[in-house]
Amino acid sequence: MKHLWSPWRMRYINEFKKDGCVFCAALQQEDGSENLIVARGERAFVIMNAYPYTSGHLMVLPYQHAPDLSDLDSETRAEMFELVTKASQVLREIYSPEGFNIGINMGEAAGAGIEEHIHIHVVPRWMGDTNFMTAVGQTRVLPEALEETFRRVKDAW
Ligand SMILES: [Zn+2]
Repeated sequence: MKHLWSPWRMRYINEFKKDGCVFCAALQQEDGSENLIVARGERAFVIMNAYPYTSGHLMVLPYQHAPDLSDLDSETRAEMFELVTKASQVLREIYSPEGFNIGINMGEAAGAGIEEHIHIHVVPRWMGDTNFMTAVGQTRVLPEALEETFRRVKDAW
């Protein structure tokens, strides 16, 4: 019975779950403020977070529906990092953030919201934005509407 829990079995389960994946679903749609896809590369793409931590919160993902960096080939990982770099440049140009959080929550225990499709967060930060977020609690009040952010990021890309 051991084979049931092999990586291949997991891969099968992940493939099976693909239909329910919001990122894979977004890829099926035309790019715009509906699916929030900013740019598509050869092996990876850039999408806006629908529940942003700060205005301009972007994510970089492989087209491949996979949960782990080890599932990807090195070309895909390389392109993802290029897109992360460009995302930071574009956001710097538009919003002049004072810093960035760039990172991956790999696995549910690490806080991944959608763990089956790996994504790199690119979050622009400003001094004091954490205090602001604390003040408003769970309600994510943003200084700019999602559609407006999307248009600005897309234009600048
Ligand atoms: Zn997916």
